[in-house]
Amino acid sequence: MNTIDQFSFLDKKAIIRVDFNVPLNNGEVTDNSRIVAASPTIKKIISDGGSCILISHLGRPKGIDQNLSMGNILKEVEDVLGSEIILSKDVVGPDAKSKSKNLKPGEILLLENLRFHNEETEGDIAFAEELSKLADCYINDAFGTAHRAHASTTVIAQFFEHKFFGKLLEKEVLSIDKVMKSGEKPVLAILGGAKISTKIPIVENIMDVVDDIIIGGGMSFTFVKALGGSIGNSIHEDEMMNTALDILQAAKNKNVKIHLPVDVVCSTEFSNDGKQNIFDIDKIPDKFEGMDAGPRSLEIFKEVILNSKTILWNGPVGVFEFSNYSNGTKSVGDAVVTSTKNGAFSLVGGGDSVAAVKKFDLQNSVSYVSTGGGAMLESLEGKKLPGISALEN
Ligand code: AMP
Repeated sequence: MNTIDQFSFLDKKAIIRVDFNVPLNNGEVTDNSRIVAASPTIKKIISDGGSCILISHLGRPKGIDQNLSMGNILKEVEDVLGSEIILSKDVVGPDAKSKSKNLKPGEILLLENLRFHNEETEGDIAFAEELSKLADCYINDAFGTAHRAHASTTVIAQFFEHKFFGKLLEKEVLSIDKVMKSGEKPVLAILGGAKISTKIPIVENIMDVVDDIIIGGGMSFTFVKALGGSIGNSIHEDEMMNTALDILQAAKNKNVKIHLPVDVVCSTEFSNDGKQNIFDIDKIPDKFEGMDAGPRSLEIFKEVILNSKTILWNGPVGVFEFSNYSNGTKSVGDAVVTSTKNGAFSLVGGGDSVAAVKKFDLQNSVSYVSTGGGAMLESLEGKKLPGISALEN
């Protein structure tokens, strides 16, 4: 892996693909964590005596849209980095060309929103080449878009002799490898979320590296129904029942233990307000639907989590958005934190489990929380991400 620590950027202009696609509310940045996450890479280049040209998309503009101009986030970037930033009014136009040409060591230039050009998402070669001419070397630090073969994330790399993983991208890749390639045993995957269909490629891929899989949340009901249980009104996918049985058989063949919930907190409606009751997972009455892992399930999950040395967590084990059904996901999070304190490596990644650890304020108590939703899921599915391959070729 070509990391930026192996290179001196003295007098070099580095074009850095960052992920500054931050949430905005009335032109104000409401969560700056992506900017914070990119700052170690930027600071390394500046402290070497180099200069930075930052490139990113912001939102999904259709053509030029001043509401999604990088000018909206300039102040926040300056505050996070603690230095003045030069803003270019265009991406590959005259302003970008002259400002990058005149850029001095120690200076940072932020180009306008890449997606003001359709060529960005189209992966246009000529556009990527124009961008590449602005700098001497290329760094990708945008894990969140590494699964896209866009001009700035993938295509551009071919125009550089010197191309590198930024510090954030490096951390993401190492964390995934720590689970998928070199996880200390026992390795556990906790999978939850609404639907089994979206998780199948992950289950199939991780089966070869894990010792245990906890299957919780909405996706567990397809397994329970396939095994002959009564699941009431619980979410499930009839067309996936055979797949669920295949997974159970494959796990048996590979000596992987699958832990399904044994009881479940149910409600008469999909809201915080329905009548609540706890049932065995395979004996849910018709009028009820499963909303959260029950107490006996949580005891079983906790024991498995505390016995594991490597933990991957993707997906909540209940409808954690409703306060009455957040206990299961919070308990799983607490157990992951305890296991981490005891020396386990824990990676939380992919959409809603990240939202859950943030909601319960556990993000600093696990080993790593991935910044990339889709990119993380594709990595767990075993796919090689185009943005990463481009740095290796
Ligand atoms: P996913 O994006 O597939 O990881 O799904 C995350 C969503 O699954 C969250 O919004 C949860 O509310 C939802 N979820 C978890 N458990 C259940 C359940 N028992 N019934 C319905 N939805 C659930």
